[in-house]
Amino acid sequence: MDVLAIVVPCYNEEEVLKISSEALRGVLEDLIAKGKISSESFVLFVNDGSKDRTWELIEEEHKLYPERIRGVKLAGNVGHQFALTAGLITAKDMCDVSVSIDADLQDDTAVIEEMIDKFHEGKDIVYGVRKKRTTDTFFKRVTALGFYKFMHLMGVKSVYNHADFRLMSKRALEAFSQYKETNLFLRGIMPLIGYETDSVYYDRKERVAGYSKYPLKKMLALAFNGISSFSIKPISMITGLGGVIVLLSICAAVYALISYFHHNVVPGWTSLILSIWFLGGVQLLCIGLIGQYVGKVYIEVKGRPRYNIEKII
Ligand code: UDP
Ligand code: MG
Repeated sequence: MDVLAIVVPCYNEEEVLKISSEALRGVLEDLIAKGKISSESFVLFVNDGSKDRTWELIEEEHKLYPERIRGVKLAGNVGHQFALTAGLITAKDMCDVSVSIDADLQDDTAVIEEMIDKFHEGKDIVYGVRKKRTTDTFFKRVTALGFYKFMHLMGVKSVYNHADFRLMSKRALEAFSQYKETNLFLRGIMPLIGYETDSVYYDRKERVAGYSKYPLKKMLALAFNGISSFSIKPISMITGLGGVIVLLSICAAVYALISYFHHNVVPGWTSLILSIWFLGGVQLLCIGLIGQYVGKVYIEVKGRPRYNIEKII
């Protein structure tokens, strides 16, 4: 029977911790009773350098339910993406399958069973996808949609309306642990792993208690990180722009020469305008070209695995 680890990053979650612990334990007991997972399954709370009583509460829960609740205490606050990674990498050697979920229970714990069923059908990654965003504010909905659209435009593959609520098999976790990059955007890495994936759909709820730890500033940082860690398209755009300006400079040259022969232009204007356009374009083109090499170095430095083997017969 497969051991399930539910990985939960927590930052200042003292208001919700007990509630989440109870709900997630309930999910485990239910799945164990149905014979879908091993009775050694557990919840792994990752304390991301909380400044409140989160860690004390995790310790209390562990004392009360030693076989169900485990905890990892990070030495400081490293942010959601790293906290989750720490949890997944720690869980990798203790479990056969993991599900990551936020501490605030906004994601529907009821679909975890569906995820496990898909896992038993042989899927390695199962994404939890939100049906609609009625509980989010209008602002959050618009910015989130813009974010996905922009990411797509920049050539970053990511599943629409999927946050970090997902199931990963042991071998998906092992493949994931090979991505050593520091600029981490989990949602972008998952499609790169390449194993068979599937999705389950659910309605996202309001936070049970506490407040959001993802203010606009952190959201923008996540968006920029997502693009800059997965795509060197912005550099190609600079190169393209350089090319366009060089072409435009030819038009400008024609215009300047016509003006020179037909009207009375100020002496020096023609040569000046030609130089400005042409040199500007050439400079941009060269910066773009250098950028292409920098982009290649960037990709090499990441040292990402070049492939993952799914099966050998
Ligand atoms: N979180 C974390 N470290 C941080 C910020 C957030 O581990 O620096 C956790 C937080 O405890 C929660 C999850 O990440 O479990 C998602 O955060 P939140 O619910 O505040 O984000 P929102 O749902 O509002 O986007
Ligand atoms: Mg939340």
